[in-house]
Amino acid sequence: MKEQGLYRKLRVLEGAAAAHCTFDHTSVVNLSSNNYLGLATHPRLKQAALEAVAKYGVGSGAVRTISGTMEMHIELERRLAAFKHVESVVVFQSGFAANAGTVSAVLSKDDVVISDELNHASIIDGCRLSRAAIKVFPHKDVDAARQILKNLPASQRKILITDGVFSMEGDLGPLPELCTIAEEYGAIMMVDDAHASGVFGTNGSGTVDHFKCHGRVDIQVGTLSKAIGVLGGYVAGTGALVDFLYHRARPFLFSTSHPPAVTAACIAALDVLESEPEWLDRLWDNTRFFKAGLKSLGFNTGLSESPITPVIVGQAALAAKMSDALFAQGVFAQSIGFPTVARDQARLRTIVAATHTKEDLQYALDMFARVGRELGVIN
Ligand SMILES: *Cc1c(COP(=O)(O)O)cnc(C)c1O
Repeated sequence: MKEQGLYRKLRVLEGAAAAHCTFDHTSVVNLSSNNYLGLATHPRLKQAALEAVAKYGVGSGAVRTISGTMEMHIELERRLAAFKHVESVVVFQSGFAANAGTVSAVLSKDDVVISDELNHASIIDGCRLSRAAIKVFPHKDVDAARQILKNLPASQRKILITDGVFSMEGDLGPLPELCTIAEEYGAIMMVDDAHASGVFGTNGSGTVDHFKCHGRVDIQVGTLSKAIGVLGGYVAGTGALVDFLYHRARPFLFSTSHPPAVTAACIAALDVLESEPEWLDRLWDNTRFFKAGLKSLGFNTGLSESPITPVIVGQAALAAKMSDALFAQGVFAQSIGFPTVARDQARLRTIVAATHTKEDLQYALDMFARVGRELGVIN
């Protein structure tokens, strides 16, 4: 990897994960965090975590199915179920564990997964663990997905999976259309809403709400690690689904549950989402401002519809060079190359947060303009 120029050193954060912070002794506008609403440092979440530690300690002591289910774990799941307008929710240690654990539990080797080519790695790993056949359709191509479904035996169990928001493009999965073909061909419908949790829908409740697809998606996966600001993942669906996962999802059965501080902070995050809608308003206000700024400078920002805006430059070496030059100017926008994106689609990925000031974002735009011109990415 070092020989191929694919080796990257980890950037080290000094201090808290804020919108303007310090990495590797350099003060930067951070455009590389999923902390969309700034909840990772919100006073109400911090206070909830501190109180939980004082009252309940720092660990849960066991997996959920033995003695590691605390009252607050059940409370968080109840709150999430109400938030998502579903019967039931089960929380996992991470979004990765939720996806991989659920897909591998629900499917067996005789089943088929129909999956968007840009779906997240944790879905793909879950598919591989299940030994089900995987049929990939081109990004957002509903007709191609329909063609795959049409050619499968009616008796075969199938699951159609899309990301709600695609993490490298910032675009949305075509959820209503996919629900329609899933219904038409009797497929289980699943959406991974990691980047939509806390960002799309009423109070940030996700893409099912955003697209008014309530009752049409069998399995909704969300994360507590991004906009919610803490750590964890969850699966929302029927009581029967959740009961089944209690018995079959391996990360739930064989890995220890969240410590009290994590769960208490997640509950506080839901309180904040419901009582402080201004964070979501600011997130979208900043998103519009920054996206328009990048576009008017002449960058190729792809088809993004979310706070994730890619700046597509082509070759991986150029993306890395531009990212390093921006970092030296105090702007952190991570470069992303193959195999995460196609070889000629290397990019810098920018993510704005509610907690960026207009000055932060204007400064970042000024530096994108300067570095982009120096490197010939824009004129
Ligand atoms: C980040 C992400 C996950 C994993 O979530 P974690 O809580 O960080 O483990 C799953 N799916 C998608 C699409 C993601 O972007």
